[in-house]
Amino acid sequence: MTDSRAEPTVFERIVAREIPARIVAESERVIAFHDIAPQAPVHVIVTTKAGDYRDVVELAAGDPELLAELVGVARDVAGDLADGEFRLVFNTGASAGQTVFHVHAHVLAGGLEEGTLAGA
Ligand code: 5GP
Repeated sequence: MTDSRAEPTVFERIVAREIPARIVAESERVIAFHDIAPQAPVHVIVTTKAGDYRDVVELAAGDPELLAELVGVARDVAGDLADGEFRLVFNTGASAGQTVFHVHAHVLAGGLEEGTLAGA
C-alpha cells in the first residue's frame, strides 16, 4: 500500500484529468492510455485508477480480481489497437526499471521484434 499522505502518482493525476493523456480504454477500476515515450508501435499503459498498490506483486496478493480486470483491459486494448497479440510487462522495482510506483502494465504490440524480452 502507498502512504495515503504521499503525493499522488503521475497516473493518479492522469485519472483525475490533471495531466492530459490519450486515454484508450477505461473500466470501473482500470484505465489505459498511450505511453508518453512509446517503445513499440503500440505502447499503452494499463493501470489501476487508485494508487493503492505499488507493483504487480502487491496487487496480486491484495486484489487478484483487480489484477484480472487489468489484464482484461490489456487484452481489449491489444485487440482494438493491434491484432490482439501483445507483450505485457510489469516492471517491478527500481532496479528492474520501474519509475512510477503505482502498479501498471505496459501493453506492447503491433510488430514487435522476435527473440527479445526487451521493449519496455
Ligand atoms: P515504468 O518505468 O514505471 O515501468 O513505466 C512508467 C511509464 O510511464 C514510462 O514508460 C513513461 O514513459 C510513462 N510515463 C511517465 N509519465 C507519463 C505521463 O505523464 N504521461 C504518460 N502518458 N506516460 C507517462
